[in-house]
Amino acid sequence: MPTLILPLILACFSLLLMAALGGSPAFAAPQVSLEAPATVARGDAFVALAVSNEPVQSFSFKWMGKNYAATAYAGEASTGAEKKWQAVILLPVPLDAKENDLTLAVAPITGQTGGKKPVAAGQAATQNIGLYNKDRPVQQLTVDKKYVDPPAAQMERIKADRELVRKTLAQYSPERQWTLPFERPVSGDVSSLFGLKRVFNGQPRGLHRGLDLRGAEGTPILACADGKVALTGNLYFSGNVVYINHGEGVFTAYLHMSKVLVEKDQVVRKGDVIGLVGATGRVTGPHLHLSLLVQGVSVDPQPFIPAAESSEKKAPSSANQPSKAPKKGK
Ligand SMILES: [Zn+2]
Repeated sequence: MPTLILPLILACFSLLLMAALGGSPAFAAPQVSLEAPATVARGDAFVALAVSNEPVQSFSFKWMGKNYAATAYAGEASTGAEKKWQAVILLPVPLDAKENDLTLAVAPITGQTGGKKPVAAGQAATQNIGLYNKDRPVQQLTVDKKYVDPPAAQMERIKADRELVRKTLAQYSPERQWTLPFERPVSGDVSSLFGLKRVFNGQPRGLHRGLDLRGAEGTPILACADGKVALTGNLYFSGNVVYINHGEGVFTAYLHMSKVLVEKDQVVRKGDVIGLVGATGRVTGPHLHLSLLVQGVSVDPQPFIPAAESSEKKAPSSANQPSKAPKKGK
């Protein structure tokens, strides 16, 4: 007798299970998985990937006390025909982060119900991320005296510049435009790394919050990724600038240009020429200063751009996996 009953029970159970999984998606709680690097250097950003087996509208990533929403896109799973909903996001680790170990959490957000706020549904996934330091040496530079001790008459302008940049970076476009790797904006080598402690004319002046790339005056500068021009203008320290909003909290900024070739609100594509290399603002000579701003934090752009073809031998950072961005419809 038991030899007959057991298969029967199993058959009934699997029918119920199939009904539960496929019959009514509204009641199936999404199963979410999370991929992120195990360690990240202070001053770097990292890619986090969330995947759900059920339809979700977006994911909410909780990182260093803040929540970041990322729109979910449907796509085929790489292993088979099963459909998945996923999102990638860039998250920052500030240079001065005090913690040694942090937890990244992600929760699925399903559709809005009756115009109310999005609903969190399903189990959150978490991952521990260890922080470490990269070597950030001191760099001595000599520049025009007016850029070390700006004349009193310029203080108002410097304040206004700062406010303008702060307002620009406070804009948030939920749709992700960027894909990895970024386009290298100029082919020249790195002349100054991100995070160096800088001493101008013998006086300490904080950290270098960008990556300097060599380029002769007039060299075309290419946009790192798709986006919309968020700011153009001339700033006291930065000279002629272009800021691009790439969506989902990611901006790039291009400083010291001789000429700006785009306008505010212009839509740009990855690789478009946006300006020319110059020596405007606080510089020792013509070069491109590239800034990457992720969720309002300046981070090192270098791990996200391909190495210069000629002389750089350094392998790209293993902490970031550029190919995780899902292909979009257009
Ligand atoms: Zn610089």
